[in-house]
Amino acid sequence: MRATLRYEEVRDRARGAFLGLAIGDALGAPVEFMTSGEIKAKYGLLKEIVGGGWLRLKPGQVTDDTDMALCIARAVVSSRGWDLTAIAQHFARWLKSKPVDVGDTCRRGIRDFMLKGQLETPYNEWDGGNGAVMRLLPVAILTAGDDELLREYAVAQARITHNHLLSDAACVWLGKLVQLCFDSASKSRLRRELETLLGEHPQFKFDPYRGLASGYVVDTMQTVFHHFFRGKDFESCLVGTVNQGGDADTTGAIVGALAGAYYGEESIPQRWRKKMDKNLMNEITRLAEELLRLSPYGRGVTG
Ligand code: MN
Ligand code: MN
Repeated sequence: MRATLRYEEVRDRARGAFLGLAIGDALGAPVEFMTSGEIKAKYGLLKEIVGGGWLRLKPGQVTDDTDMALCIARAVVSSRGWDLTAIAQHFARWLKSKPVDVGDTCRRGIRDFMLKGQLETPYNEWDGGNGAVMRLLPVAILTAGDDELLREYAVAQARITHNHLLSDAACVWLGKLVQLCFDSASKSRLRRELETLLGEHPQFKFDPYRGLASGYVVDTMQTVFHHFFRGKDFESCLVGTVNQGGDADTTGAIVGALAGAYYGEESIPQRWRKKMDKNLMNEITRLAEELLRLSPYGRGVTG
C-alpha cells in the first residue's frame, strides 16, 4: 500500500517534469535571443505564454527542446526500452519534417547519423552547447532507480550530437537532480548534491550569478540553478529564468523539467496549461507514465 502511494507521487513528479519542460519552452521561446533589458522594455515581467518572437510562434507552441525530448521518449516507449538507434532515427525523421528550429550542432550530428549511421559524434571542443541537456529529461525518468544507467544513457543520447565534457556533465547532473526530486529531496539536499558535483567542474558555480543565459551549457545551467534555487514555486522558477533572456526557451525547458519534478504536476499554473495544445499535454502525460513504468524503479514497484 505504501509502495503504491509512493509510486503515485513519483509518477506525479515525472509528469510534472515532462509537462514543465514543454511549458518552459513555450514560455521562453517568444523571448529567445532577447536581452533581459529588451524583455523588460517590451513586457515588463514576462509571466504569460504569449507566442511570437523570432520564430513567430503561436501561443503555446513548443520548439526543438520539446520536440527532441519527445523523440527520445517516443523511441524508448515504442521500443519498450533503451534503443539508441531508434532514438537517432526519431531525430532523423524529425529533422526531415522541417521543424520550426534546429540547433547547428544537433543538425550536424543528426546528418552524420543519416549519412554514416554514426551514433557517436567525435570529440569537439565547440560542442559545449546546451542541445544535449535540453532533451535529457525522458532519460532521467527511464533510469529512475539506477544511477549507473542514468550516467550511461544520459551520455549516450548526448553523444549523438554533442561530444563535450561539460555537456556530458550537465546531462548527468540534471538527471541526478531530477531523480533526487523523485525521492522527495528538499532544496537544501539538492543544493548539497550540486555542491559536490561542482567540485568536479567548478565552471558551473552559479553564486554569485553572472547573469549570462546563452546557449553555452555553462551559462545555461548557471541560469537554471540560480533561478531554481531562488524560486519559491514552479511559476517563479520559470518566470525568473526566462526573463533572463538569451536562450530563454532552453533555459525555460530545463528549469521547467527540474521545477516540475520538484513541485509536482499540481503546481503548474492552470492558465499556462490551458495555453498548451491539449493533445501534446495528453501525450506527454502518457509518455512520462510509460517511461516511469519501464524504469528500474517502476519495474520494481509494478512488477
Ligand atoms: Mn528551442
Ligand atoms: Mn533555445
